[in-house]
Amino acid sequence: MNIHEYQGKLLLRDFGVPVAHGIPAFSVDEAVKAAEQLGGPVWVVKAQIHAGGRGKAGGVKVVKSIDDVRKESQRILGSTLVTHQTGPQGKQVNRLYIEEGSAIDKEFYLSMLVDRETARIAFVVSTEGGMNIEEVAHDTPEKIITFSIDPATGVMPHHGRRVAQALKLTGDLAKQAESMVTKLYAAFTGKDMALLEINPLVVTKGGQLLCLDAKVGFDDNALYRHPDVAALRDESEEDSKEIEASKYDLNYVALDGSIGCMVNGAGLAMATMDIIKLYGMEPANFLDVGGSASKDKVAAAFKIITADPKVKGILVNIFGGIMKCDVIAEGVVAAVKEVGLQVPLVVRLEGTNVELGKKIIAESGLNVVSANDLDDAAQKVVAAVKKVA
Ligand code: GDP
Ligand code: MN
Repeated sequence: MNIHEYQGKLLLRDFGVPVAHGIPAFSVDEAVKAAEQLGGPVWVVKAQIHAGGRGKAGGVKVVKSIDDVRKESQRILGSTLVTHQTGPQGKQVNRLYIEEGSAIDKEFYLSMLVDRETARIAFVVSTEGGMNIEEVAHDTPEKIITFSIDPATGVMPHHGRRVAQALKLTGDLAKQAESMVTKLYAAFTGKDMALLEINPLVVTKGGQLLCLDAKVGFDDNALYRHPDVAALRDESEEDSKEIEASKYDLNYVALDGSIGCMVNGAGLAMATMDIIKLYGMEPANFLDVGGSASKDKVAAAFKIITADPKVKGILVNIFGGIMKCDVIAEGVVAAVKEVGLQVPLVVRLEGTNVELGKKIIAESGLNVVSANDLDDAAQKVVAAVKKVA
């Protein structure tokens, strides 16, 4: 789960991490009031969406009068920002963050993430902060310094010194960096974060190290431990299909392709996506209905897939082990009876109760193409979609 910049900064502040003062605003009037409260003389009006690249897209404006706070707030609030992270459809701005302006001397990059390879929390730092870390990684990877922290020792003073050194900070600024690293690590582990990205981390003209941006993501599996974090969820920022799927405890991830997939088991789901690609098309989603899905859960899953306008064909690929093929068949038939079926449907069933499952589908009168194995199924659904198109 991701949160907004202002929420992330408030959370970091609780851990003693230095961030600029700011106030969230849900209307232009609130933005103006926030600016008055902060006092100026410089403010930053920042669009709050779950995507980076706002600066380049006009969603971050440094202003020097209350009038301009109002003007920029009017312009940004309710507008749709298209950044390199939102996709072409963009994201509507429903919240603003009004922050006191900082005089920037230097901009750095700092992030923390769970590195699966080393199974440790890693720091990634670079002197090349600001808005283009993707370009830095591509063009001058040597300017990005990475190291990880042994969970047995936790964060140590030498980790802080390493960050200070990487950012070429000395004296008091090096001390600030060392202290910040300890606090960031405490925040990351204390709140079960999955990602924390500060871009830019700045040195102000007054000689303070300050977080000017904060992108924070959490490990969903640990959210139950943090009701305070779970309460920060902004469902309007999330894919509505994924929210619906989470209500039924389905493992669903929306993707950009055109073949909707309903599969049991994460491994089989991955293999199904791969084989769709192999035959020249792209999956519209990842979906693992799980091992013990009920008919209702299967029907819910099928409805989520059919409701997606990008879906031009559906592939149901079930290997019944614990999952029974007849339960899948009943769920699919129930869902189609309710919402209809506008696109080709290919079904491959194998395993427990397969004959019963096939019988249920055959007797349902649905226009279903049945397939014998994974390869056959992928070819058939790709061919069916091409024929319609
Ligand atoms: P992003 O583009 O979505 O990553 O948004 P950021 O919060 O990183 O803001 C983009 C850029 O705006 C930053 O890299 C800074 O250069 C600039 N910026 C943000 N806050 C301030 C500020 O207080 N003062 C000044 N001068 N620039 C700022
Ligand atoms: Mn940024």
